Amino acid sequence: MSDLLRVEGLRLGYGRADVVHAIDLTVARGSIVSLIGSNGAGKTTILRALSGLMKPRAGAIRFLDGTPADIAGEAAHRVARRGIVQVPEGRQVFANLTVAENLRLGAYHAPGPEVARRQEAVVARFPRLGERLGQQAGYLSGGEQQMLAMGRALMAEPVLLLLDEPSMGLAPLIVEEIFSIIADLRREGRTILLVEQNATAALGVADHAYVLETGRIRLQGPAAEIARNPEVTAAYLGL
Ligand code: ATP
Repeated sequence: MSDLLRVEGLRLGYGRADVVHAIDLTVARGSIVSLIGSNGAGKTTILRALSGLMKPRAGAIRFLDGTPADIAGEAAHRVARRGIVQVPEGRQVFANLTVAENLRLGAYHAPGPEVARRQEAVVARFPRLGERLGQQAGYLSGGEQQMLAMGRALMAEPVLLLLDEPSMGLAPLIVEEIFSIIADLRREGRTILLVEQNATAALGVADHAYVLETGRIRLQGPAAEIARNPEVTAAYLGL
């Protein structure tokens, strides 16, 4: 598989402190890569840099779709136009807008008939959203809001989908449902970088995994191997 994203020597921080220390990370086209690690390890910070919300202090973010480009420091709207689309931690749906309005915001640059076609595809994937198209997003359950946030991202037809903690605050059955949809997306050829504290779910669905500890990559490898690693089972899988 060819690489879609190659991060080299990425250094990130807030104020005086560095929180991510020169990490390297690669995402192969058509794969799911999981980035696991405890609270505060720097996972969200990395996603913020990848989607253009934060300027790296050093390093390259090579996006290899079409003409390869180093997108480190590029503005978020330009990164989004390249097809890198993030589903943020905590969903961040627009509570006062309807489900349909939230979805359409994901494809605001697309022509009308195309928006309708994409919305149909999203509703086929998330039938519960279809039943609630006219309802205000603020009244949806946590799981439905996660589906809406993912549906909104899919409306942009992303080349690289960044998922930040999709399992957060959701009941186990809903987590299972969300992760089965993530696996479907991969089968359909999407490329996904998944950040999770729920290591069991994240390693179950991924091809490759990175374990981040206080801003450094501590381990990486095929997800099945990482899931068997004794350090990982002790620290992250609660076994
Ligand atoms: P979580 O699962 O809690 O989101 P995380 O692995 O995503 O954890 P980050 O949110 O990236 O971790 O945080 C990494 C470090 O950066 C933490 O020490 C955090 O306190 C710090 N940090 C995050 N956001 C800011 C900010 N806006 N200003 C200052 N420090 C921050």
